[in-house]
Amino acid sequence: MEKRGSPDGDPARSLEQGPEGLEGPETPIQVVLRVRPMSAAELRRGEQSALHCSGTRTLQVSPPGGGPDVAFRFGAVLDGARSQEDVFRACGVRRLGELALRGFSCTVFTFGQTGSGKTYTLTGPPPQVRRAQGEGVPVPPNLAGIMQRTFAWLLDRVQHLGAPVTLRASYLEIYNEQVRDLLSLGSARPLPVRWNKTRGFYVEQLRVVEFGSLGALMELLQMGLSRRRSSAHTLNQASSRSHALLTLYISRQTMPPADPGEPPVGGKLCFVDLAGSEKVAATGSRGELMLEANSINRSLLALGHCISLLLDPQRRQSHIPFRDSKLTKLLADSLGGRGLTLMVACVSPSAQCLPETLSTLRYASRAQRVTTRPQAPKSPVAKQPPRLEIEMLQLQEENRCLRAQLGQIDPKASRLSGARVAWAQRNLYGMLQEFMLENERLRKEKSQLQSSQARARDEQRLLAQQVHELERCLLCACYGPQPRPDPAPPCPCVMVPAAPCPVMSPKAPGDMPLCAQPPPWAPPGNPGSAKCPRERSHSDWTQTRVLAEMLMEEEVVPSAPPLPMGTPNTPPVLRGEEEREGGGAAVPNLARRLEALRDQIGSSLRRGRGQAPPSEAARSPSRVLPPC
Ligand code: ADP
Ligand code: MG
Repeated sequence: MEKRGSPDGDPARSLEQGPEGLEGPETPIQVVLRVRPMSAAELRRGEQSALHCSGTRTLQVSPPGGGPDVAFRFGAVLDGARSQEDVFRACGVRRLGELALRGFSCTVFTFGQTGSGKTYTLTGPPPQVRRAQGEGVPVPPNLAGIMQRTFAWLLDRVQHLGAPVTLRASYLEIYNEQVRDLLSLGSARPLPVRWNKTRGFYVEQLRVVEFGSLGALMELLQMGLSRRRSSAHTLNQASSRSHALLTLYISRQTMPPADPGEPPVGGKLCFVDLAGSEKVAATGSRGELMLEANSINRSLLALGHCISLLLDPQRRQSHIPFRDSKLTKLLADSLGGRGLTLMVACVSPSAQCLPETLSTLRYASRAQRVTTRPQAPKSPVAKQPPRLEIEMLQLQEENRCLRAQLGQIDPKASRLSGARVAWAQRNLYGMLQEFMLENERLRKEKSQLQSSQARARDEQRLLAQQVHELERCLLCACYGPQPRPDPAPPCPCVMVPAAPCPVMSPKAPGDMPLCAQPPPWAPPGNPGSAKCPRERSHSDWTQTRVLAEMLMEEEVVPSAPPLPMGTPNTPPVLRGEEEREGGGAAVPNLARRLEALRDQIGSSLRRGRGQAPPSEAARSPSRVLPPC
């Protein structure tokens, strides 16, 4: 047979190897075989044994009428010569106990024909009842079964653990498809079997009793055994008429369970003593016994069906009818779930029982191929290592914060959310308004600058016109009236010069003699000068500006003869004007006008260069030249 779970095929050992083996690996049901000795009655009837052990793990079956032997191999084969202690040591229940202490859910169950020694293997011979007190008499220690021995071993183990362990026990029987509490204080009424996601199938309102000593546990066992239904029939004087389940709950936490009715979280070790299958004809059961036998057989049939399906790898993934009986419900976790299971198959050696024995052997062989996925139950906070505990608390806190944040965008908080959005929108709208106002302000400023620029241009144009007129006046003053190409009326003071002025040669910008440049004013006959001042071109204006700059920066130096020295503040005058002083008031007037013109041109130029005006008066565009 293929062994899974560990290299040597020992699932319990593989689970003990370390944390990586604690969850997930498929572990087969461990099966051991117990062959009881021939009973005195069988020997009396001269029945022969058909079974022979070969080694410690193989059983040879010899059909009574001859024929080939059939061999069956199990985890251990224990014949009638082996003591109860041998069985306890060889069956592997202690490993299951260790795993239960580590939080696993473990089950030990006996299986076989009625009268094959199931109850004996688990709990020893049937309890003798003291007729006077009606109390059960404890089984002698040497005959004590797997259960009592495991109890003693477990409590000893717990004492040496050095950590607080809480032990509790429950005990129930399934009799005629009804669950009854063998530890109940009142009358044993049927209890419902429920199911939920975390616990799987469980018995509601089952009494779970905490105990602290081996003696207390033995009393509980005795109490249950004495209450359990048994009857006498042909094959067994103390035949169990029910399936009995005693469960030990092993918890290393000191906290009580959150729900009083809920068993504590931790390991479990469950002992299941099945009622034996029986041929009604062979046992001679009638009436109530027959009803019990039918019920027992039905539930065992359901168990066999589930095991058959669990053996089929394809059907295993599909539905397993654990709900078909109370027994299969309560064994579901042990057979196909997260538990570890030890099956003790019990057989009678008598050749008379060979058909049932072969059936049990085949059944047990198949059960060895049923696997489970052992998984330690999730422990509460108290069992977590400190680091994990801290991490869990941090995650819980983070989760709480995230939930709180989530609540802010929850529909419940939509009003708040709406207010925030409205605020943002208002804010955006406000920003937009700000931008628009700023834009408007800038637009106005730009417009003002443009109009100011236009005014400056007008002013410059006006000045240019005035300069032009002034030039004419100067020329008139110097040389007499000039011929005007245009029909505009001459200035009243105009005297047209006889010839173009050859002597005015101020330094032009770029150290070029002014005469070498185009004259700053238009010479007679120049078409440019024939224009109306308002129609002057850009070059005309440039010439005028050059003249204005000359007036601003350069003194007009006559080439010859030198001017007579006057007062220091006397503005230079043209010689020709002085000489023709006859009508003389025009020159001082012109000088004043020139002075004013200088100021105005200077102011205008500064404004054109972007400089601040020297004074409010100079800046005023209303300032006009004195009349010519
Ligand atoms: P089952 O529970 O399978 O119906 P029991 O455990 O009640 O069978 O055993 C039937 C009878 O066989 C009992 O009288 C019991 O004492 C006896 N018996 C069973 N196994 C042994 C054994 N290993 N050694 C001695 N007697 C045994
Ligand atoms: Mg029994």
